[in-house]
Amino acid sequence: MNLRLRLRLAVVVLAAVVSTVAVATRLAGQSAPAAPPAPAGVNGLALDIFRQLVDINTTESSGGSTKAAEAVAARLIAAGFPRADVQVLGPNPRKQNVVARYRGTGAARPLLLLGHLDVVEARREDWSLDPFTFVERDGYFYGRGTSDMKDMDASWIANLIELKRQGYRPNRDIILALTADEEDGDANGAEWLLRTHRDLVDAALALNEGGGGQIKDGRYVANNVQAAEKVYQSFALEVHNKGGHSALPSKDNAIYRLAAGLTRLSSFDFPIRLNDVTRTYFERMSRVEKGELARDMAAAAATPPDMAAANRLAQSVYYNALMRTTCVPTLLRGGHAENALPQLARAVVNCRMLPDDTTENVRQTLVRVLADSQIDVTPVAKAKPGPASPLSPDVMRALDRVTDGMWPGVPVVPVMGTGATDGKWFRMAGIPTYGLGAFENVDDVRAHGRDERIGVRQFYEEREFLYRLIKALTE
Ligand SMILES: [Zn+2]
Repeated sequence: MNLRLRLRLAVVVLAAVVSTVAVATRLAGQSAPAAPPAPAGVNGLALDIFRQLVDINTTESSGGSTKAAEAVAARLIAAGFPRADVQVLGPNPRKQNVVARYRGTGAARPLLLLGHLDVVEARREDWSLDPFTFVERDGYFYGRGTSDMKDMDASWIANLIELKRQGYRPNRDIILALTADEEDGDANGAEWLLRTHRDLVDAALALNEGGGGQIKDGRYVANNVQAAEKVYQSFALEVHNKGGHSALPSKDNAIYRLAAGLTRLSSFDFPIRLNDVTRTYFERMSRVEKGELARDMAAAAATPPDMAAANRLAQSVYYNALMRTTCVPTLLRGGHAENALPQLARAVVNCRMLPDDTTENVRQTLVRVLADSQIDVTPVAKAKPGPASPLSPDVMRALDRVTDGMWPGVPVVPVMGTGATDGKWFRMAGIPTYGLGAFENVDDVRAHGRDERIGVRQFYEEREFLYRLIKALTE
């Protein structure tokens, strides 16, 4: 999931008020409050599934996703899903995915609920708690996967079981796909399902992780929906030279040439270009922010954009990354001996392309900016570009309505991820994909880190939000 995105959204640095209060309470010597009673109904079910999934270690190093996939399938079948509509499948025994279908009237093409079952590695000695034992403490649920993304997996499952219990008949099939190897490993379930079982997961649209609500200073400020992701593309820059003895140097030196090219790159910026997602992001955030920042966001979102305002915004590394393709050197190597002229100087430049940019366009731009025909520029691996998902009125209306019903006055803000999720595979396959998530403190994001957690209240809110959204999109 998109950790950097959320971190960088933290424009104002504010204290983690809730955890500070919790710590202060403990320090004051008060006894910890008794564990709250287990919630009833669908929240109780969601909690039960959540605990079960977190307690199953689904890291790459110890077991993979299969045990979790089988546990989910057993739950769904026990809840009355026909066996034929619940499949556990995958390219190898450790990397199974679970795909289930909730049958609708067929009036519309399916809605896909996507999640990954695997989690990032976690070492016991790095944590203050056991990462693979689900614990509720001081208003949080702790454990690896509690925010990325077994919270959402549990919500999808509990909501489908609840809808089934009610006899709900959606206007379209609802497909649940919980997959392997999003974080690590060579058996990415999303990619594999699309490639080998497209019929099972084909949908009009998909809901996934990657967005979520922002809490700043204890206040709910925005509900982000991730509708696009930047595209990862590295290039190798190489200068070859015949070399020779370092006692007899000439000015034609591979390291000088590469360094001079990189210096030219350092003062270059790709053009600012907003898309539908980032334009709407700045337009809606202009209503959340204050002062000059709010004015610049509104002006940058105008058509045509106010370039002076956009350039001021670009002083922030996050806003800059939202508005343009970026390329930056990340690796450097050259020469083979202290007393020899270098025969090779090599740098890797890592680019994050806007969704509609192309590898060839960026390569040609680099060649032009480096301005030295002896610097070879070649893509390191093939990029996997996914187009931005359209902010279709149906989807935006449903998101606005459900968000406003739960958190009056909190805007839905579309975002473009500067990192990547499995949403890219579905966008590449032509299935618009929207990233959602629980509300969390933007200054204390713990996905992939130590003592990963989710607020108890925010977990149940996320469950309810997703329930209402599924209904809004299938009624
Ligand atoms: Zn994730």
